[in-house]
Amino acid sequence: MTMSDVPVGKVAVSAYTIPTDAPEGDGTFEWDSTTLIVCEIHAADLVGLGYTYGNQATAFVAEHLAKKCLLHRAALDVSALYATMLRQVRNDGSRGIASMAISALDIALWDLRAKLLGHSLVDLLGPLHSSVAAYGSGGFTTYSNTQLAKQLSGWSEQGLKSVKMKIGAEPDADLERVRVAREAIGASTNLFVDANGAYDTRQAIAFARKFVDFNVRWFEEPVSSDDLDGLRRVRDHAAGVMEIAAGEYGYDSLYFRQMLEAQSVDVLQLDATRCKGFTGFLEGAAIASSFGYPISAHCAPSLHMHIGCAVPKFRHVEYFHDHARIEEMLFDGFIAPKDGELKPDRSRPGMGLIFKHHDAERFLAWRNK
Ligand SMILES: [Mg+2]
Repeated sequence: MTMSDVPVGKVAVSAYTIPTDAPEGDGTFEWDSTTLIVCEIHAADLVGLGYTYGNQATAFVAEHLAKKCLLHRAALDVSALYATMLRQVRNDGSRGIASMAISALDIALWDLRAKLLGHSLVDLLGPLHSSVAAYGSGGFTTYSNTQLAKQLSGWSEQGLKSVKMKIGAEPDADLERVRVAREAIGASTNLFVDANGAYDTRQAIAFARKFVDFNVRWFEEPVSSDDLDGLRRVRDHAAGVMEIAAGEYGYDSLYFRQMLEAQSVDVLQLDATRCKGFTGFLEGAAIASSFGYPISAHCAPSLHMHIGCAVPKFRHVEYFHDHARIEEMLFDGFIAPKDGELKPDRSRPGMGLIFKHHDAERFLAWRNK
């Protein structure tokens, strides 16, 4: 058998529900746990690892897709396997949970491909850079001002050049929280805010004007990311002062194209764990590049650092507190930012991550047979 014929053997799919270390919330949602869905694709004696964060139902869909579309097929035929999975979910809806299931499997296929060929994922993709900038992200609306100040200043002291906080849960408290954050991090760290779509357009424009006093550089989802016209109006008012960002709920390239055609954002956010894996991320990055826009990766820092090194106009990876904590706890090979940068270890095959089954077992919610 040649390398190109190596078939997909077993596909193990599992879901783990991990409590947060404190209550977490943003402008439109609160949570006290996060579910990690892990896909491990076996071929020859290697295992490709992929994951996403989402509803446990994602694991059921991933198992179904693996059985229908991947088992016994050539593991290196990533584009063909991707196309087969996409066709398979047509009647279920290709966005949302189905897209997250495809994402975890596509990421595992890329990881496996790199391992079969004996490369790190960065080297398989072909790097533009050896590291990418990371920004600290948390500052939950459920935090006291003391917790907020401690977390953001901690990242700043660790060398991260930018930090992001949540706003919008209690608009009356937002200006004071932003003031507390700015005071905690000092003048030299960039301050980002994320409303997760909590404001209406007039409110968001009014806040954008006030945030100027605290030198806020990035205003994420000031209004719902489905409201492309509202985003564009906020962007017009904030032009040249702060950037508008959105895209984390994008599941395919048509969504990204429409967002950019509507001139709704300054920076497009892409999430490989939602937008159909590295294959979908590369499509999204190409679209952003065709419009001349920079991109930023949403969450899941351990996998985004790899693709971030390999695509043009890549701004930074979101070092999200919740995910960084889980990835550090459950992935051998986890890398923390150093001097504000995430640098993949290119001496390790694939993404360089090994899932710690034993440590994860206490969080197990579901696994396939
Ligand atoms: Mg966000």
